[in-house]
Amino acid sequence: MKICTYPDPILMQEAEPVLNIDQDIQDLIDDMGTVMYEASGIGLAANQVGVPKRVIVFDLTYREKGKNLNILINPTIVLAEDTVEFEEGCLSVPDFLEKITRKKHLKATGVDRHGKPIAIEAQDLLAICLQHEIDHLNGKLILDHVSHLKRSLYKRKVEKSMKKAR
Ligand SMILES: [Zn+2]
Repeated sequence: MKICTYPDPILMQEAEPVLNIDQDIQDLIDDMGTVMYEASGIGLAANQVGVPKRVIVFDLTYREKGKNLNILINPTIVLAEDTVEFEEGCLSVPDFLEKITRKKHLKATGVDRHGKPIAIEAQDLLAICLQHEIDHLNGKLILDHVSHLKRSLYKRKVEKSMKKAR
């Protein structure tokens, strides 16, 4: 399993809700955890590894490698307030860091890997991480939050390096 990067079309696609938490989903969750820790990321959405399903994993204590893997299936943001600005990067958008404005506090609901409903109250980095990962499930990237100019500069840089690689 590897991380899909921009401009892979799967990243621009809206992920489908999980209707049945079967063995495939359990395996997906485990694989996503492995990939996220290997990449030293704090969050990962399933479409980033090529599976368009509404599953996210996250762990702000990723340096402890796997002790606190959080899973949220079919996440929904039910409450969001105040704003915060933070410099974000994304495993699917390499070599790009940009200040993005997000909600500072939020409440998200969904189910865990056993299908049990959960609600998460988050603020600051965790709130930012959840918004970032839920954006992925909606086919949105950090590139969609920056100016047109910054987006086209990045796009051009990627196109150039793809040409070189050919
Ligand atoms: Zn990302």
